[in-house]
Amino acid sequence: MKIICIGRNYAKHIEELANEKPENPVIFLKPDSAILPKKMPFFIPPFSNNIHYEVEVLVKIDKVGKYIEEKFAHKYYDEIGLGIDFTARDVQDKCKEKGLPWEKAKAFDGSAVVGEFFPKTQFDLSNLEFKLTKNDVVVQDGNTAAMLWKIDELIAYVSQFFTLKKGDIIFTGTPAGVGKVEENDVLTGTINGIEAFNIKIK
Ligand code: MG
Repeated sequence: MKIICIGRNYAKHIEELANEKPENPVIFLKPDSAILPKKMPFFIPPFSNNIHYEVEVLVKIDKVGKYIEEKFAHKYYDEIGLGIDFTARDVQDKCKEKGLPWEKAKAFDGSAVVGEFFPKTQFDLSNLEFKLTKNDVVVQDGNTAAMLWKIDELIAYVSQFFTLKKGDIIFTGTPAGVGKVEENDVLTGTINGIEAFNIKIK
């Protein structure tokens, strides 16, 4: 399986990192080795002094597809989840400065937290509230209504480049409020108030 991540999909997050608003979705990949095993803590890797959390709504693909039209995109997923796109911001800043790829900053082991999935019929996908709390304080509070590109548009766009396969996961981008994790932090993600993950930082 592969993980396809969308960058810069929420205007306020683009502002907080002083990024340019893209003409098209920004896409990058994480390998399956990036997935943090269930119930494991996240260990801050030795190559970074600035690991950021980015909470994101996840879409699990359940059918193979290529050049999927937006109007048919809903047929390619039944489940929605929540996860974290852990980012070595210091490493990413260096990559950006030099115009280099982001993999070292974004695709390292444990960088993809994949929480619980829920049937999409349980939610209104155009108005889905999701939150990340750090040590019981809300640090990110997002709603899919603020996405620049909606889930079905993302599937249509991404599938022009990559064949989507059953089990692939799309990380749909993070809202504002990203920040650094420290040892002993506890991160909890909720979708419409339902807990999707709970991660300890070591
Ligand atoms: Mg992200």
